[in-house]
Amino acid sequence: MSATKNEILFLEPVCTHNIWGGKKLREEFGYPVQGDDIGECWGISAHPNGDGTVKSGTFAGKKLSEVWKEQPELFGNLAYDRFPLMTKIIDAREDLSIQVHPDDAYAQEHENGSFGKTECWYIMDCPKGAALVIGHNAATRQELAEMIHEGRWKEFIREIPVKKGDFIQIDPGTVHAIKGGMLILETQQNSDITYRVYDYDRLSDGKPRELHVEKSIDVITVPAKSVEDSVKSVAGLVENQLNELYACRYYTIFKLDVNGNAVFEQKYPFMMASVLEGEGCVNGHPVKKGAHFILPCGFGTVDMQGEMELIVSTVQG
Ligand code: ZN
Repeated sequence: MSATKNEILFLEPVCTHNIWGGKKLREEFGYPVQGDDIGECWGISAHPNGDGTVKSGTFAGKKLSEVWKEQPELFGNLAYDRFPLMTKIIDAREDLSIQVHPDDAYAQEHENGSFGKTECWYIMDCPKGAALVIGHNAATRQELAEMIHEGRWKEFIREIPVKKGDFIQIDPGTVHAIKGGMLILETQQNSDITYRVYDYDRLSDGKPRELHVEKSIDVITVPAKSVEDSVKSVAGLVENQLNELYACRYYTIFKLDVNGNAVFEQKYPFMMASVLEGEGCVNGHPVKKGAHFILPCGFGTVDMQGEMELIVSTVQG
């Protein structure tokens, strides 16, 4: 099986239905899923709630979690006990609930040993004048608890203007919400632990969705990170090379704009790639908008051709 390190792992994503979801994931990206409430495409995921399937090659039909377990050398023999990351495309037709995620320590203790959730967003598309909820306006934990218990949402919620191409890091403890009209590529730790702070009093199947008020108050960072430190505008990127957008202990994120030919070495434990726009080839394999794939450890030289935009991510070795 040693030759398989030269095989690209193309993945069949898992799409989810959400009350706030839309139809772009089917109509624009061509994912084979019915319904007009498709909120998320889990493009690269080995999570039990949405485990992607390898489309072709030696591991065709296997779940990503199985390949991770059975062939650790393809992922650099990392010390993680499960596949560490997840990549999603999120199509929000309507506002998502206001939420916050715990860190690893809190999730270990309160959520059955789950990972916490650090995530980041690349804004693929959004309306003019769009804003996201990032952070809050409470100065102290007591004020935070009062604002939440008393439902003073207008005072509590902090909205920040954003535009297409912006990058946002969401550390655990950051209050956040995606607003209607946004199309986002999310890279995150492999976890779906989310505490819902407020859901705009909406009903789902006739009932309000569960809120997690006390856990939220436990984990929200007070005061919030400044507006300036929350959003990074991505501009002046060099074509045909990996442009690092962000690095933290969980992941490093690159933007890659292929225009003609991009050649680079896969020198990481593994690389995850998602095609956001356009089409082309990767080492001779045709890919287009909506494709998600993994370049294994030891893959060697990556040779991309065509006109396409990708988000690429990896973990620290
Ligand atoms: Zn989140």
